[in-house]
Amino acid sequence: MLKCMENIGELKELLATPKAILLTTHRNPDGDAMGSSLALYNFFVRRGHTVNVLVPSEYPDFLEWMPNIEKVLIHDLEPETGKRRIEEADLIFSLDYNGLDRVDKMGELIGKQTNTKKVMIDHHLYPDDFADFVMSDTTASSTCEMVYDFLYLLGEQNGIDPVVGECIFTGILTDTGSFKHATSAKLFRIVAELLERGVDDYMLQDLIFNTMKAKNLKLLGHCLYNRMEILPEYQTGIIYLTKEDYEHYDIKRGDTEGIVNYLLRLRNVKVAAFIHEQPKITKISLRSKGDISVQEIAKMHFKGGGHKNAAGGASFIGLDNTIKKFKSLLPSIRALANPS
Ligand code: 5GP
Ligand code: MN
Repeated sequence: MLKCMENIGELKELLATPKAILLTTHRNPDGDAMGSSLALYNFFVRRGHTVNVLVPSEYPDFLEWMPNIEKVLIHDLEPETGKRRIEEADLIFSLDYNGLDRVDKMGELIGKQTNTKKVMIDHHLYPDDFADFVMSDTTASSTCEMVYDFLYLLGEQNGIDPVVGECIFTGILTDTGSFKHATSAKLFRIVAELLERGVDDYMLQDLIFNTMKAKNLKLLGHCLYNRMEILPEYQTGIIYLTKEDYEHYDIKRGDTEGIVNYLLRLRNVKVAAFIHEQPKITKISLRSKGDISVQEIAKMHFKGGGHKNAAGGASFIGLDNTIKKFKSLLPSIRALANPS
């Protein structure tokens, strides 16, 4: 599904004079969420707008180096300032999320601003209808790829300088799992152009992937050695983490990023689940290979969503029951994988 902002002319007119722009992205922001927000932050600041970035919750440490990330406001930590930023904005961007329920309290506040123009740029399935200007491309690798397209649509391709390019590259790199999935010829052309525009891909990979702490590798070892279960009859792998694991390994936001993908390295695993217990909820991250859609499982059974091959959700029934519930769904997933 492709929605390509047919009314971009109207947005261009709005952007012709300085505006108060608020860039928002989803809870537990990842490389694509922060990359798309900071790409547009750095671009709009250079064009003379007053720009703020507001995210629901903290971003992971491995993104700490991103240009101007220190300016990002975290709603969980400063709700009053966050509310003010939402109320003061002329234009609110929703980046890398497809419904206001993905940004919790921020979503309610944004929804109330009925006179504020809203822009959505996102690549998730089934976008809600809340924005005045919509770019929705579920075939895009990342929202960052779409931010690149958006700058071209605005006729602002020369705004893609090395700083903006680094932010775009970050989201592409992390959302494709280092160019392993959701790639296309178009994407590789974009990446080639980013390098021509001065992006240092080697340096960025080093900053993003080679800055782990020893505890992260120990956590990975623990997950693979003690917390992994393979169910060959369903071509499914599960890794789980308990609340105690969180304390013992001093797990912070972002530390578990990517662990679920290790399961897909197994030839016989087509569906992977990472189930982890947090203080109030149990989060589930799902991945799949090929034609099997985990988006539907996340949506139907875990109040979540995402993409066909990468989705997530949550439950409120505790870790053991969530694992049981997920296992009980496996026969139906197998039916999806092998339609008779
Ligand atoms: P992850 O497993 O890395 O947290 O998320 C994978 C994909 O699923 C991302 O695109 C993310 O936006 C989506 N996703 C994760 N958790 C949720 C959720 O609770 N609700 C919805 N709608 N999407 C989610
Ligand atoms: Mn994304």
